[in-house]
Amino acid sequence: MNKKAMRPESRMMSYGYNPAWSEGAIKCPIFQTSTFVFRSAEEGKAFFEVAYGIRDRAPEEKTGLIYSRLNNPDLEILENRLRLWDQAEECAVFNSGMAAMSTVMLSFLQPGDLLLFSNPIYGGTDHFIHHFLSKMDIKYLTFFPDQSKEEIIQLIEDSGYADRLKMIFIETPANPTNDIVDISMCAQISKYFSHEEKVILAVDNTYMGPLWSHPLQHGADLVLYSATKYIGGHSDVIAGAVLGSSDYLRKVKGLRTFLGNMAGPWTGWLLLRSLETLKVRMEQQSYNAQKIAQYLDTHPLISKVHYLGLIPSEAKEYPVYKRQYRAPGAMISIVIDGGEKAAFRFLNQLQLFKLAVSLGSTESLAQHPATMTHVDVDPQMRQKIGICSGLVRLSIGIEHYEDLIEDLNQALQAVALS
Ligand SMILES: *Cc1c(COP(=O)(O)O)cnc(C)c1O
Repeated sequence: MNKKAMRPESRMMSYGYNPAWSEGAIKCPIFQTSTFVFRSAEEGKAFFEVAYGIRDRAPEEKTGLIYSRLNNPDLEILENRLRLWDQAEECAVFNSGMAAMSTVMLSFLQPGDLLLFSNPIYGGTDHFIHHFLSKMDIKYLTFFPDQSKEEIIQLIEDSGYADRLKMIFIETPANPTNDIVDISMCAQISKYFSHEEKVILAVDNTYMGPLWSHPLQHGADLVLYSATKYIGGHSDVIAGAVLGSSDYLRKVKGLRTFLGNMAGPWTGWLLLRSLETLKVRMEQQSYNAQKIAQYLDTHPLISKVHYLGLIPSEAKEYPVYKRQYRAPGAMISIVIDGGEKAAFRFLNQLQLFKLAVSLGSTESLAQHPATMTHVDVDPQMRQKIGICSGLVRLSIGIEHYEDLIEDLNQALQAVALS
């Protein structure tokens, strides 16, 4: 059988692990160890030479196990399995999504450089750029999903820092409104401003990956995840991941070694377990979300449903949606008539949906972006990007969709009666 031709879901149970390493155990054990015993001093020397880049790895030479801040079997197997979904050369796993985002930015940006990012963006990423990178004298510019390539190029040129543009960081679909940013358009912008050094295009694919979107295939250099979300999928672990070419990942892993923000073996093991069911979970979530979006779209108390599956075929973003995404996903935002009061009444009334932030898990979640995940965003900006007081974000889980609809229905009825 041609293993390379097999789909990722067929390989998630065994890829990269050999039962002979562990007494025939069918599952990879948790390598709960801080350090690894070298067979000889010569071997230890060789491992360090490769790990610290003192010499290149020989063609058949493997990176040896040294110390769990550098590498650990649970992490390496996890990284190899994640690579299959995005068809990436290399992967690095972190102890949180934010560790992945911040380490990537710190790996490629220096004082005086310019960073361009899409808006809206995850609150933690926004905070890191505004409050930390700016202190390091890293300049930033932001653009909106409805801006054209020409407008964005003009924006960069008008900034006076065009020759220092080093990274374009985008999040698509944007949280919480599902606005789409065109990845290949951003790749063209990155190319336009790349001279001796490539302007890195990094995509936070947490909302759609790694099943429904593969940004590397649309011209991105790096794809990032909060693995806390769909990859973990059970609301019981915090982790992050970055994927891309070996050249870029060498840099990212180098900094990870010295910041020490890699994930531990227990996190690696939990994520290996999660990856086995990634596809069935995400497919069920998207199936449920499509049913729920249809129901919400006709409800008289709801003035707007933000969901990729409801984008009309004549809309400007429709071709980008079709090109970039294999499914409409499982994140829905709704605008309830009656502002914060009605939204809170609705949230307090939900029973099967849990009132919590985060997303992508087996259980369905609901939250209020304006006062919760996006409370730190400037109020004027919140208005501009559509985070109004009646907006509620739903993450759809794997429960029966009819039970979820019944829950939404009874909560909306309570709003109507108040
Ligand atoms: C949750 C999230 C993050 C941050 O990930 P953590 O695992 O919470 O650190 C970054 N980007 C997006 C889109 C997220 O949803």
